[in-house]
Amino acid sequence: MSDTMTALTFDTLRDGWTTSTGMVKEQVPVPQFDRQVDHASVLIKVKYAGFCGSDRGIWWRKAFGDMIEGSLAEEGKTTRVIGHELLGEIVDVGVKVGEKYGYKAGDVVSTESHIICGTCHQCRVGDSHVCQKDKIIGISLDGCFAEYLKLPAKALWPTDLSRIRAEVAAVQEPFGNAVHACQATDLRGKTVAILGCGTIGLFAVLIARGLGATKIIGVEVDPKHAQMARDLGCDVVLTPSMGNPAKPHASDPELRAAIRDLTEGVGVDVAFEMAGFNSSMNNAIKVVRRGGHVVLFGVKNGDAVIEDVHRVVMDGIQLHGIVGRQIFGTWEITKRLLEDRQNGIQDAIWNTILERGNDTIVDIKNWEKAAFEGVISRHPKAVIRFAG
Ligand SMILES: [Zn+2]
Ligand SMILES: [Zn+2]
Repeated sequence: MSDTMTALTFDTLRDGWTTSTGMVKEQVPVPQFDRQVDHASVLIKVKYAGFCGSDRGIWWRKAFGDMIEGSLAEEGKTTRVIGHELLGEIVDVGVKVGEKYGYKAGDVVSTESHIICGTCHQCRVGDSHVCQKDKIIGISLDGCFAEYLKLPAKALWPTDLSRIRAEVAAVQEPFGNAVHACQATDLRGKTVAILGCGTIGLFAVLIARGLGATKIIGVEVDPKHAQMARDLGCDVVLTPSMGNPAKPHASDPELRAAIRDLTEGVGVDVAFEMAGFNSSMNNAIKVVRRGGHVVLFGVKNGDAVIEDVHRVVMDGIQLHGIVGRQIFGTWEITKRLLEDRQNGIQDAIWNTILERGNDTIVDIKNWEKAAFEGVISRHPKAVIRFAG
């Protein structure tokens, strides 16, 4: 093994958060691995790495700057390897890994991207997905847009490539986000609206159907994504109005009326906000029935205005904020949904969301910044191939 490897990075000194965009392909040192010191960790050779919505946030310098710069300062270095959606093969293990976690060299794994502390209040009471001290791979630790990375064995998720296609296995982590959102409330027999059919919204269409929702209404502006949502099983996809510039948070009364019409005047049982706009959050609150559930995933930062709070309280609407995945409850359901070939989910991810690899799987050897920017603008999901 050579001492250096190809990686996609951000460097605080070289790039500067406010004066650059994208990532830089460069040679960086392979992580040092000592079986005694790294007794509970593994060294992984990356096969495929998914490019996430949060990686888009880093690419355009819209999110995670503080976390990247703060963690680099703590580590006393300036270069961060980005990336957290992984499929790889274990090539070396610490001395305790076999006995404590059951992994050995040659095992194929994905990883939970939130590295939890295991000792805080939430970790102790079984809510470790909201650990008080979690670190995120590719943001507050070096990530998987690299030929190798070192990870704690406790974060890994074993993956059977005879059951899940490798390129699909590389997106188990974001698919798990959508699974977690769909676990917020029981979807069996329910009517559902998914507001925002980006990558996570498209996954949610498949999962809601797989978990037994009976009617799925998509809400999406982009025509390509709207068509994908139809292909994946939405009964209907509506286009919201572009809103009122004087009141950008305002909901769309026509969308509400259309969804009432589609649900016998009742409203949907569950609305998922996955577009990331304040107006979309208010649309979600307006289109659920009295006593319905709103699952909030898209709007994550800053202040948002809730229109007509009377509607939330007096109509008994439950709001759920969703972050990450339950560790590892969500991963187990993710695995079952993907490995069950009868539900068609795995094939739909490959054929429709990953577009059969057509222009969506980019080999790191050919990776070039401007061309990759084109790929991520043309497709909801891109995957980088490092090996395999
Ligand atoms: Zn992700
Ligand atoms: Zn914790």
